[in-house]
Amino acid sequence: MSPAATILLLAVCACVAIYGIVKMRRERILDGMVPRERADFVPAPPPLPIRTVASDPPPLPQPPPVLPPASCGEIPDDLPSATELSERDGIRYVLPLRWSLSYALTAAQWRGVNGIRERHKKLFPDWDKCSCPMRCKAKDLDEQWNYDHARHTKIFIGATFICGGCHWLKSPGFRIATWRKPMPALHKPPHIISCLGWTQERVDKLRQRDLRESRENQTAISHIQQQIQQGKAIALASPIERIPPTDLKELVRPGQIMVVPWRVDLTRLDAYGYSPEEIRRFEKRMYDFAAKRMRTLD
Ligand SMILES: [Zn+2]
Ligand SMILES: [Zn+2]
Repeated sequence: MSPAATILLLAVCACVAIYGIVKMRRERILDGMVPRERADFVPAPPPLPIRTVASDPPPLPQPPPVLPPASCGEIPDDLPSATELSERDGIRYVLPLRWSLSYALTAAQWRGVNGIRERHKKLFPDWDKCSCPMRCKAKDLDEQWNYDHARHTKIFIGATFICGGCHWLKSPGFRIATWRKPMPALHKPPHIISCLGWTQERVDKLRQRDLRESRENQTAISHIQQQIQQGKAIALASPIERIPPTDLKELVRPGQIMVVPWRVDLTRLDAYGYSPEEIRRFEKRMYDFAAKRMRTLD
């Protein structure tokens, strides 16, 4: 074989060898790129969560609504001043005074380690600042309610920590207790003036309104108590739909006026992580508390 033919033969052999190696590598790469799962029709596992920042906080549950800061010194028109009474179709509806979670729940349910106060603090890290102009120290968890007068239903909408001065202003029971006592000599203006900016004239008007409404309520309650004593009316411990119809038939005589408490709706407590079952238990406690109030109608 001539040297030229030998070189040509070697070159051809080299080309075949290189082609073989390249083809084998390509097949291996392609083989590796076919996912085993797809070949076996096994669904791919869900992608792992991607965290862009190592210290991403977990998402917070939907916080309950809080009142806007401007409302702290205001008294909404529909805020009941005391036990509220209304009548429709021969039924008298009573919205008991102090009918709230802080009175109806147990101490553990209200201020225990897993109580509503502690749950609120976890949801709102800056809970201890009141929304009043001087951002006073907030200590009292104030419940916020809507009053559905058409359905006689008190609806829980949220809560917020407020300072003692704002809590006093928002609580008709506290205000009336203060107004009834002789006014002590004050060394400095009260919170309602110094922080909330009320004038003395406005405070006096509130005092007059509260005392007038309290007297009117007392008169209306005395009238109902008289009707109950005369047998013209009967006080029921629960809203009508919560009383079995057979019991209702036995309790109420034809023509008798039924005096019943309002309904309560605590659905929004789910924002604090309560289950529907826990919410039903809390509603029952509220109705038990209302039943006690219905005995004395205070
Ligand atoms: Zn304040
Ligand atoms: Zn305040």
